[in-house]
Formats: sequence, structure tokens, C-alpha cells
Amino acid sequence: MPKEVKKMKLHWPAQVEEKIFLLGTHHFNSYLILGEQYALIEAGVSCSAPYIIKQFAELGLDPQRLAYILVMHAHPDHVTGVPSLLEAFPRARVVGSALAKKILSKEKAVRAFYDEDFALSAALVARGEITKPPGKPAGNTIPIHLTVKEGDELELGNGVCLKVLETPGHSLCSISVFCQSASALFISDAGGFQSSPDCIFPCFFSGYQLYLESLQRLEELKARILAPAHEVVLTEEGQIHDFFQNTTKATKELKQYINDQLVLGQDTSEIIDRLVQHYYRDNLSIYSRQNIQGCVAALVKMAREENCSD
Ligand SMILES: [Zn+2]
Repeated sequence: MPKEVKKMKLHWPAQVEEKIFLLGTHHFNSYLILGEQYALIEAGVSCSAPYIIKQFAELGLDPQRLAYILVMHAHPDHVTGVPSLLEAFPRARVVGSALAKKILSKEKAVRAFYDEDFALSAALVARGEITKPPGKPAGNTIPIHLTVKEGDELELGNGVCLKVLETPGHSLCSISVFCQSASALFISDAGGFQSSPDCIFPCFFSGYQLYLESLQRLEELKARILAPAHEVVLTEEGQIHDFFQNTTKATKELKQYINDQLVLGQDTSEIIDRLVQHYYRDNLSIYSRQNIQGCVAALVKMAREENCSD
């Protein structure tokens, strides 16, 4: 089991580094990067957007200077904040991969995203974690104005540049971002979901090998700040080292477990039920059970498929 990874004791908006602030809510990290222009990494959910907007105002910054909102992948909890953010930051362009753009242009997909978003907001209100109601109902689609690919750079001025890495495995449309001047690495969900201090939910929904390869690539950058989309922000070398060790170990153990169960002839639905029972708690239970069931089914599918091709 992973060692404890402590969340920084935070008071939002929290300064992570000279030019980096953490905005958002307890479960949804968004990062504000300050150059001459600004970038917001992670658009969060509809109910985190009002917090982001308020925290930005508290910093006394000019909303007109927010040039980019980075959508790190097209999952509901990373994109449904976009419409409210665009109202508050009218000059911002939404940035994401070409595949994310394609997904977010589909009305049916975006409607389903907002169904999950509303369920999530209701869960957070019930837990007393947010007081603000959800944002406005969705438009039919979510825009991406600027598509990026591996190696692309967004210059913010004042020596601050964001370099894009394609890091598939969590989803095929996943990107990560490296800010070299601060040695800060924004990995979105590429490292899984820290459901509690001692449990990481591995999230190789679109490929086990791809996921491990992306993790290795990210680890090799030896960043001084590791910034996932949920729950934790790591700023110590030892913590970052442990995070990569633990999440890689949890990923390999989960695949092994699934494959062992399949070899034993266990029914897929039983394996899924057991895994949902194991993981669906603590921070992960802010999502609907149906959502996590779908996630676990994807994990079982990927483990099975990649075992066949070994
Ligand atoms: Zn995701």
C-alpha cells in the first residue's frame, strides 16, 4: 500500500511557487500560472468554477490577461467548468488535444458529462463540501479553440512557457504540461486518483501499457512540483518519488489481481463488483457509483486485452 501522501495544508488560493497558484476546491485542483499572460490548467467541474473565479479575483489579477484554459482530457470532471470560466475570462482560449476537441463537439457525450457533473455536485453539497449550487446547465458542446500536440509550447511571457506532452493511458486524449522554469509538472489523471492517503485508484482506462509508459516518462522529468488534478499537490522530492513508486506499484498489482481472477475463472461482473466495493469509498465516492462501475469495467477490459496480447 502506498505511504501516506499528505495534502498540503491549504488556504485557497494557495501559492505553490512564485508564479503558480492552486485554485479550485478540495477535490478539484486547478492551477493558475502567471507569466505576462496567464494560463489556467484544469477547468474542473461546474461547481468548482465559481470558486476559481472568486479566488482569481482575491488575487487582484486582471481577468483579461488569462489567455489560456487548458483542458487536460475530455472527462466530465475536467471540462464541465469551461462555460462558466469562459464567461468570467472572455479573452481566454480553451486548449486541448485534437481528440479531446472531437469528443467535446459531440452533443450526446457532453449531455452525459453534465448528467455526471450534476450528480457530483449533489454529492458534494450533501457532504457539506460546497455551498454554491452547480453552474448553469450545459450548452450542447464544449469548445476547444486551440488544439495542441506533443512538443507544442504555450509562451506566457516573462520566461514562463508551458510544454505539452501527450500522455495517453488514462484516456487517449490525455495531455500533461511541463513548466520548465518552475520545474512543475501537471499530470492531470495520468497518475491515478488518490482516493485516500493510503489508496491510489489506478486509472488505465484506455491502455495499461500506455499508462505505465506515460508514468515512466513523467517520472523521468524529475519535476520539483508534481501537480495532479485531484486531492494532492506534491512539492518535496521524496513525496514525488514515493508517488511514482506507489502509483506504479498499485497499477501493476491491480492488473495482476484482475488477471489472476480471470485465470481462476471468475466471472467478469463479479470481479467488477469486488473492485467497486474495494475502491468506491473516501474521496472516490464523490463520483456516482455508476461512473466508478464503468471505470472499473474499463480497467478489467484493458487488463484482459493486454494480457491476451502479452
Ligand atoms: Zn479523467
